[in-house]
Amino acid sequence: MDELKRKLIEIVGEENVLSAPEDLLVYECDAETLDLARPELVVLPGSTDEVSRVVALAAANGIAFSPRGAGTGLSGGATTVGGGLSLVLTRMTRVLSVDQFNRVAVAEVGATNLSISQAARRFGLYFAPDPSSQMASTIGGNIAENAGGPHCLKYGMTTQHVLGAKVVLPDGQVVELGGKSRDLLSLDLLGLMVGSEGTLGVVTEAVLRLIPVAQSVETMLAYFPSVEDCGQAVSDIVAVGVIPAAMEMVDQLTLNAVEDHLHMGLKRDAAALLIVELDGPDVGISAQREVVEKAARNNKVMGITWANNEAERLRIWKARKAAFGALGRISPHGYVLDGVIPRSKLAEAIRKIALIGAKHDLTIANVYHAGDGNLHPCILYHRDDLDEVRRVVIAGREILELCVDLGGTLSGEHGIGIEKILEMPLVFSEQDIEAMRWVKNAFDPANLANPAKVLPNPKSCGESGGRPLLRHQILTGC
Ligand SMILES: Cc1cc2nc3c(=O)[nH]c(=O)nc-3n(C[C@H](O)[C@H](O)[C@H](O)COP(=O)(O)OP(=O)(O)OC[C@H]3O[C@@H](n4cnc5c(N)ncnc54)[C@H](O)[C@@H]3O)c2cc1C
Repeated sequence: MDELKRKLIEIVGEENVLSAPEDLLVYECDAETLDLARPELVVLPGSTDEVSRVVALAAANGIAFSPRGAGTGLSGGATTVGGGLSLVLTRMTRVLSVDQFNRVAVAEVGATNLSISQAARRFGLYFAPDPSSQMASTIGGNIAENAGGPHCLKYGMTTQHVLGAKVVLPDGQVVELGGKSRDLLSLDLLGLMVGSEGTLGVVTEAVLRLIPVAQSVETMLAYFPSVEDCGQAVSDIVAVGVIPAAMEMVDQLTLNAVEDHLHMGLKRDAAALLIVELDGPDVGISAQREVVEKAARNNKVMGITWANNEAERLRIWKARKAAFGALGRISPHGYVLDGVIPRSKLAEAIRKIALIGAKHDLTIANVYHAGDGNLHPCILYHRDDLDEVRRVVIAGREILELCVDLGGTLSGEHGIGIEKILEMPLVFSEQDIEAMRWVKNAFDPANLANPAKVLPNPKSCGESGGRPLLRHQILTGC
């Protein structure tokens, strides 16, 4: 490691290689804090060329590396389970160009999601995927996780908005995938890269699709006496053919935590709060508004407020985007799940999640991208209480099993990482997983790019590349 460190310093400079224990500690997990694994070194390259040289050096020495953006991931994707290097891209923050005529932006991958829309705003354009972490999370992390966000209900996930990428392959070669248009003349290797969670290479630059800011935006906040009524209103809205830009729901526990935090005058006695946003041309938006209100009224709505101006709209969104942070008022740690269910099963899922919470004596708050059936139950706990941690891990697995049993799947947007690796066989057959291993092997035969992520390894006890994680000890006993 000393020799490797010296060579890394030659590439990126002394200040960009971290090895002191107190520095490494910062990189021992992402926002999924149940699973910890400290890197041996942290390296922060400043250009594609530096990334390429760092990766080539790691490959020549058989050292694993895990790409990392802002570390806001919620599935342990950037956690260095395989040891080796944490390869941090957050020095590469430039938005290199905004082309208003072709509606594309080119950016280095350490740029935050929000900075793309900020750079495009003067042309009346923006980058549509909007994870709630958008002030901090990077384009590289968004691409690797195929991130979503409230407005992905109408506009699609990150993969629909990435046109091209510069990628450093696991041997250090630099390749360009895709380009400035959607015309593909070859295999869709870009499609393969988006959502590959850093296991196939390191993205260093991206060509991103921009879309025009909508002419009209209407944002509604509504309260319901039960989660079931709220869920039914969501289904009714979609059933009549209206696709809102966003439909987000939070439960009473979360609503009260947000109110304690922001003092917005939210209705504390409501069992569920629903945010619906409509956007598009001026023509037709009032008809959509009527449909949404009617669906709410048919399902016992307790109150409806529409934002009168941009400031009010932003306040409503602040309530939603502050939800996870506000839960910190109740408990110091939260394990956020990401299961998906058919939208029609929302009420059943919510009821059964509450039963899982009661069975394990755990408090579970709920935030949902209700429009697309993506649930984010947040199990609250204290990390020092080891018995509680054990119950959290087991309840988390039961919630994922429930989602699969209801006809859904393991992840809507947070990825598999190390968090859901043991649950992959609930959804995929051994043949499916083997086919994914072929892809991994074609890109990374030495298994150095973010090893021990996404794909379970039947030969490895604990699935964790030789460093058994707490979750694996709890769930597999090894
Ligand atoms: C409060 C909060 C709210 C959130 N809300 C949402 C939400 O609404 N929607 C959503 O989808 N997610 C959400 N997330 C999860 C997280 O923000 C996203 O997954 C985000 O895309 C991660 O970006 P990051 O820069 O933090 O990546 P990291 O956490 O650093 O890394 C995530 C994964 O990407 C890989 N990676 C990072 N950079 C690169 C690169 N340049 N090349 C190749 N691989 C790379 C890493 O190896 C890792 O596997 C939220 C997280 C928090 C804490």
